[in-house]
This record gives sequence, structure tokens and C-alpha cells, in this order.
Amino acid sequence: MWQAEWRSSDHGRITREFFADVRSRLKLESIKISHHTSQILTGHGNINSMLHRFKLSETDLCHCGQPDTVEHIIYHCKEEKVERAKMIEEIEKQGVRWPCTLSTLSQRTTFEHLSRIARGKRS
Ligand SMILES: [Zn+2]
Repeated sequence: MWQAEWRSSDHGRITREFFADVRSRLKLESIKISHHTSQILTGHGNINSMLHRFKLSETDLCHCGQPDTVEHIIYHCKEEKVERAKMIEEIEKQGVRWPCTLSTLSQRTTFEHLSRIARGKRS
């Protein structure tokens, strides 16, 4: 029942890309989900593409001038270059090629970097 709701929720789309299903999410429960990280994971919060849709922001662009989306922050934004490079290094140590999927990024070893990218972006 709960799992069915999880699957059908439109708001959960990005979250689902991170955590393929509830079961894999539960395996990760020792990870601390910070305020900033949860914004990234849910696609909600201070992300201009979302705020703009609800008329809470005048722009849907990032500070860097590109459309501000979760994917932009994680994969493309030049403002996150330094932290992203550390994350890529960590991922490649595990034999995974960049760009990897969002669900790979939700692993414990890369989550710390992901949190810092979220924090860097929004603080
Ligand atoms: Zn940007």
C-alpha cells in the first residue's frame, strides 16, 4: 500500500531516481538526510525551476545563468565544480564512470559529497 503510493506520487519522481524503491531506501537509513540534501533528493526547496513554477521566484535560472534544476546542480553547475570533482574521484575509485545515475550517488560513500554540493548551492 505504502509502496504503491510511493510509486504513483508525482512529487516523488526525483526521489525515486535516487532510491529505486522503498526497500533500498531503508538500507540507507543510517545516512543523515540534512535539510539541504533533502531538497536535492526531493527536487523541492530552493531550486528556482520549482520556485518559479509556483511564482515564488522571478527566475527559473541558477546564479550561473543556466536553468536551475536538480540535474543541473549535480551534473552541470560550474559553481559546484570543486565539490563535484571530489565526488567524481570517489565514484571512479569504485570503478563507476561519470556521469553516473542518481541512484549511484545515493550510496553512502558519495552521499557526503552530494550533501556538500547541496549545501554549497543553497547557503
Ligand atoms: Zn548553475
